[in-house]
Amino acid sequence: MFKKLIAACSLIAFPTAFIVTYFLKVYEIGYSLRVLIPGLIFMLTLLSMIILEQLYHYKNAVSQRYVLTRDIFSTILNGFLNSSILNALLGPAILYLPNMLFGRDVIFSSSDKLGPFWLQLILVFFFYSFIRYAVHRIQHTVPFLWELHSYHHAVTDIRMSNLFVSHPFDYALRNVLPGIILGLIGFDGGAVFFSAGLLSTASIFSHCGSGAPAGKLLNSIFMTPEVHRWHHSTVIPEGHKYAVNYGVGLNLWDRLLGTFYMPEKNGAPVPPKHMGHPEGVADEPNYLKIIFLTRYWPNFLKKLVAGKEG
Ligand SMILES: [Zn+2]
Ligand SMILES: [Zn+2]
Repeated sequence: MFKKLIAACSLIAFPTAFIVTYFLKVYEIGYSLRVLIPGLIFMLTLLSMIILEQLYHYKNAVSQRYVLTRDIFSTILNGFLNSSILNALLGPAILYLPNMLFGRDVIFSSSDKLGPFWLQLILVFFFYSFIRYAVHRIQHTVPFLWELHSYHHAVTDIRMSNLFVSHPFDYALRNVLPGIILGLIGFDGGAVFFSAGLLSTASIFSHCGSGAPAGKLLNSIFMTPEVHRWHHSTVIPEGHKYAVNYGVGLNLWDRLLGTFYMPEKNGAPVPPKHMGHPEGVADEPNYLKIIFLTRYWPNFLKKLVAGKEG
């Protein structure tokens, strides 16, 4: 009976978790729940992803148990500490720049100058999603940035557990920097909260390892797991160079700029056969080795020595 009920809910499970999480996030601000328990909704979001993964198994799932310690460690570092540490370290330095250039803390002295609230909601939505798309695409094309980002691409399946498996700098470029830029421009805090918040919720859910379908509507707008899995495909779809589906949260820019890929069969999304590093580099189970880039330095030194000899 319970199993039948779960199966019957498969179509609405993912959209429900996504919508409920977003509304809780909005509710949390109004009622200062986050003062009571910091990160409560964030933790509930991660928990809802794990529940979805347990209830609806993804048919091509690959066990991630052997990298569990790394996954927990990276979740604590990137999910909970990275943005607070970076904001504290970089915040003053970054805020100093407009102060020096314009004599104030933000580029636009008053958020009213950026237009009415409804317009700022739209502006933030498109602007924020575009910066994240652009940064992510650059992370695939600039060799050193790819060196950092490729650790995230070595995971053999997407799960809530490996959402944060990234070099801290790689993670911050994609997830922290765009938010700092929004603040720097001087957008209305509420507009940032509603629009960027919606996109952030979508970007978290993009890594859910559940087999529950997100549905045509969500798939056509957001970077749902079904769409994001192709970004992690070991085989890069024909006609594309580095990867497909670079959007972080939203897939609009991929559609507009020709990097979207989502094959369907009989109206249902077709998943990639395997996920992992496109050149077959093994997943790194030791997070300290990711932080210290142990794969990078030997090659770097070799090139340096070769350069000196040549
Ligand atoms: Zn990527
Ligand atoms: Zn990913």
